[in-house]
Amino acid sequence: MVPNVKKYRGRLAPSPTGLLHLGHARTFWCAAERARAARGTLLLRNDDLDAIRFRLDFVDAMIEDLRWLGFAWEEPMVSQSTRRPRYRAALGRLHAARLIFPCTRSRRDVIEAAGAPHEGGADDEPIYPPQFRPPPDAPLPPLGEPIAVNWRFRVPDGEALVFRDNNLGEQHAVAGRDFGDFLVWRKDDTPSYQLACAVDDAELGITEVVRGADLIRSTFRQLLLFRALGWIPPAFFH
Ligand code: GLU
Repeated sequence: MVPNVKKYRGRLAPSPTGLLHLGHARTFWCAAERARAARGTLLLRNDDLDAIRFRLDFVDAMIEDLRWLGFAWEEPMVSQSTRRPRYRAALGRLHAARLIFPCTRSRRDVIEAAGAPHEGGADDEPIYPPQFRPPPDAPLPPLGEPIAVNWRFRVPDGEALVFRDNNLGEQHAVAGRDFGDFLVWRKDDTPSYQLACAVDDAELGITEVVRGADLIRSTFRQLLLFRALGWIPPAFFH
């Protein structure tokens, strides 16, 4: 009898912030190939949450480029900008569990206090200085509507994290050392990439995430969100 394994479901997740380049084409080719080999399906996710860099004509150009490169996806494209209530619901759960805190520090404060930048991929952000954190038992203000401060996820300092990457093998990171408290919602009332991506990969039933190795640190952050929200994470292939 065929074991009851979930059918492979991958995704292509371009951001419509510029024209696609060769790096994307390579990643997407790999994602499409993995889905094809597993006789699975592929979803196109339009990562259009970045209102500043996002341009509508880039979405059309992106779709045209993907089709021209020969990619095909089975279902209508999912745009993150239409899924805001889903991200807001997840944020509410993190807030109820007291796993996030409001942060009024500027980007500049954080960069200055974080000191020398540490090694990392393109997704790297400075480690949030622990002295800027409110104490864990400090009263938590409501999220507000609209949200007007940055909210960050409090990472479990010193916890050794590990996952098995389907391409690169075992990956390790220590929370608080390799990455710090990260943004889940921005003061301009938009969800962060980390939160939106975790919610989508969970709720859209993605079984394997294929993306560039520059996002491995983001994978650790997203795995913490999966755990916090009680979801089973997908597999990863970087
Ligand atoms: N839109 C993101 C990017 O292009 C997607 C990253 C991901 O695959 O999670 O970097």
